[in-house]
Amino acid sequence: MLTSEQAKINQEKYGYNELAEGKRKSTVRIFLEQFEDFLVIILIIAAIVSGFLGDAESAVVIFVVITINAILGTVQTVKAEQSLKSLKQLSAPEAKVIRDGVMVQIPSREVTVGDEVILEAGDRVPADGRLLDVASLKADESALTGESLSVEKSLEEAPAGAALGDQTNRVFSGSFVTYGRGTFEVTSIGMDTEVGRIARLLKTTSEKKTPLQMNLDDFGKKLSIIILVFCGILFAVNVVRGGSAADAFLFAVALAVAAIPEALSSIVTIVLSFGTQKMAKEHAIIRKLQAVEGLGSVSVICSDKTGTLTQNKMTVEDYYVDGRRIPAKDIDLSACNEEKLLIFSMLCNDSVNADGQEIGDPTETALINVGSRLGTDASEIRKMYPRQSEIPFDSDRKLMSTQHRIDGAEIIVVKGAVDVLLGRMSSIRTGETVRDITEDDRLEIERQNMEFSRDGLRVLAFAYKEIEGARALTLEDEDGLIFLGLISMMDPPREESKAAVSECKAAGIKPVMITGDHKVTAAAIARKIGILRDDSEACEGAVIEDMSDEELQDFVEKISVYARVSPEHKIRIVRAWQEKGNIVAMTGDGVNDAPALKQADIGVAMGITGSEVSKDAASMVLTDDNFATIIKAVENGRNIYQNIKNSIQFLLSGNFGAILAVLYSSVAGLPVPFAPVHLLFINLLTDSLPAIALGLEPHTQNVMQEKPRPMDESILTGKYLLSIGTEGLCIGIMTMAAFYIGYVSGDSVLASTMAFGTLCTGRLVHGFNCKSKRPVLFTNRFFNNIYLIGAFAIGLLLITGVLTIPGLHGIFKVVTLNLGQLLTVYGLALLNLPVIQLMKKIRS
Ligand code: ATP
Repeated sequence: MLTSEQAKINQEKYGYNELAEGKRKSTVRIFLEQFEDFLVIILIIAAIVSGFLGDAESAVVIFVVITINAILGTVQTVKAEQSLKSLKQLSAPEAKVIRDGVMVQIPSREVTVGDEVILEAGDRVPADGRLLDVASLKADESALTGESLSVEKSLEEAPAGAALGDQTNRVFSGSFVTYGRGTFEVTSIGMDTEVGRIARLLKTTSEKKTPLQMNLDDFGKKLSIIILVFCGILFAVNVVRGGSAADAFLFAVALAVAAIPEALSSIVTIVLSFGTQKMAKEHAIIRKLQAVEGLGSVSVICSDKTGTLTQNKMTVEDYYVDGRRIPAKDIDLSACNEEKLLIFSMLCNDSVNADGQEIGDPTETALINVGSRLGTDASEIRKMYPRQSEIPFDSDRKLMSTQHRIDGAEIIVVKGAVDVLLGRMSSIRTGETVRDITEDDRLEIERQNMEFSRDGLRVLAFAYKEIEGARALTLEDEDGLIFLGLISMMDPPREESKAAVSECKAAGIKPVMITGDHKVTAAAIARKIGILRDDSEACEGAVIEDMSDEELQDFVEKISVYARVSPEHKIRIVRAWQEKGNIVAMTGDGVNDAPALKQADIGVAMGITGSEVSKDAASMVLTDDNFATIIKAVENGRNIYQNIKNSIQFLLSGNFGAILAVLYSSVAGLPVPFAPVHLLFINLLTDSLPAIALGLEPHTQNVMQEKPRPMDESILTGKYLLSIGTEGLCIGIMTMAAFYIGYVSGDSVLASTMAFGTLCTGRLVHGFNCKSKRPVLFTNRFFNNIYLIGAFAIGLLLITGVLTIPGLHGIFKVVTLNLGQLLTVYGLALLNLPVIQLMKKIRS
């Protein structure tokens, strides 16, 4: 055990308890990587060649443009990385240690050598160390040893040189406690731990790409090939027509750079990483980027009840002892059994309430709070009757037992679900006497249990018996018990649950409650918040045990509430929904929930009450444990996906417009409408900002009125490609119109100046078209994206500067436009807005 000062000294001496991350890429490195793109390299070579052939200006401009583009790319990449990193810190694991004699919860990275760490089922072991105390402690060390069965821990010294898996008196960082409790003293931290040693051997792995990114990469590759072939043909045609090979080459390369959407995948990363920041502020921490996309497709949400749909603020309502229902405020401690029930409920209990700070399971905290109100302190009682042995609570058994020496006798106290305990009782205590339990007694207890449950109350039964001598408890000890009483607790639904459930239903998502609690209690709560309409929609988990997978698939569609569910049931329910083609989000908090969380498409762990194991298995963690947050996250997921789609539409339709213009003029035998530098200017400078701004478009509620998007639906649906095509066509027509106007009133340079101006401005204007599938002109939405307005303003300033500042004309291969010509350019560019908005109106 350390004091805070000692801990500080050790921290300075040993450093933080963390694994050295693989070397992060330096900013310079990221900057240089921007030049690694195949096309950019070709472009640089082409620029150098044309520089040697006498076009030094072009060469310089191309270098400047590429450099600015690389700076933009670097800033975005660094920002995206930073935001993902800060996200990781938000979901960093925590540990319980004893400092200055009291238990405190601290971030695992602050655990240091010499610390005494407390472990409970579900905890992640934060460091390596020697066990000081164990109670049925088991750990999953598969991350280190590959052995998937949990290892039983003991205090027995392992022989020197024993393999990791055989060192039962030691625990290792990176493993999880699957059962029981224990404490250990930290002997090594960070890179000095066994897992640190492994980490040293591992190379850094890069973040996996999301399905959307892979989808786009694949599309980008295919598109690139088509474009490269096209550019090759264009190069040949220009040379055959007698153009200079160097010019033709530079143009072909510039067109390829302009047309190939190499930024698609990185736009997705940037938008996803900004989106996850927003989600984190709204209490949903994304652990796997794929989850953001998946959220938009979720069609079933399976949620726990306690704490997620309810407040998890338990208060004891009634005691039931001696055949009487007694409100908590009327408990009389001079009555022998009422006092006994109170004391037992404090002993068979791991929660503490130290100066108002509640640590532990709210169910158990509620039990000790009754005592505090009556002037009986749990810590005093626990000192008087210390715990000799225990069998911890687990949600499969639904029981917890502890053993104490009380008045010279060894007593085991058992608490748990009423239906489970009823089967294990052989006697009943009334008044001072203990007698055999009768069928009538059982019926009466069941009746009382139902009465409580129908009010939505959670009920615990308490029983005990005397055992022979002090020894470790076994599961057999939980039989032949003496019934003492029931305690009922109120856990009101969260205020926001009802609205969230109805929003969920409107969005085409089925909410399902899966709880360990009693069926009647669960149904009462589910009815209150709108998950359940008819009692036939509720069932107990055991019902599905005898069903085949096929039967279950039909069954799940009829059920909204599963009660008394074990973790195995959860996995089967998720799987059945998935087999039916659904994308399932599933919440979980317990030690045994990890497999179900992994099976679900979106595993959701609870940040406050969840075990570290469940957080580790989840792809999203709720920092407020709230069901409504899942719905909010779905809305965010759908919006983010839509924004990415809009941003891609913007890029592809603009590129397509440019290609159409080039294609048209080469078929029509006109001079090439753009100089290479024009294409690069647009694609590398004025285009990237609106694309990102569209990714940051404010979210709307509209997305929640649509059905979930099928997960396997490609982003590039026929409809989507059609709108890209028509919008590109519109931009291309406006551009060529400007070209013709310039061509008839002047020469090819004026024509190309006007075409360039129109294409550049037109694409900036087109940003506003891409805000939504629906028309937004004349709505409040038109001006609601400040980033887009900013990107438009910057782009307009740049292009206007190029067109009007005489000093830049030589560099950018443009001529001075008179006012009429300038207005023509702006007018044609602006015309894209009403025309495309009208097309959207017709389409929607
Ligand atoms: P949910 O699954 O929605 O979170 P839950 O909290 O009721 O619901 P579990 O924690 O698995 O689910 O509890 C199942 C049952 O076990 C409860 O209904 C209760 O009867 C009993 N139980 C819960 N907590 C304890 C405990 N600390 N000690 C003994 N029994 C408990």
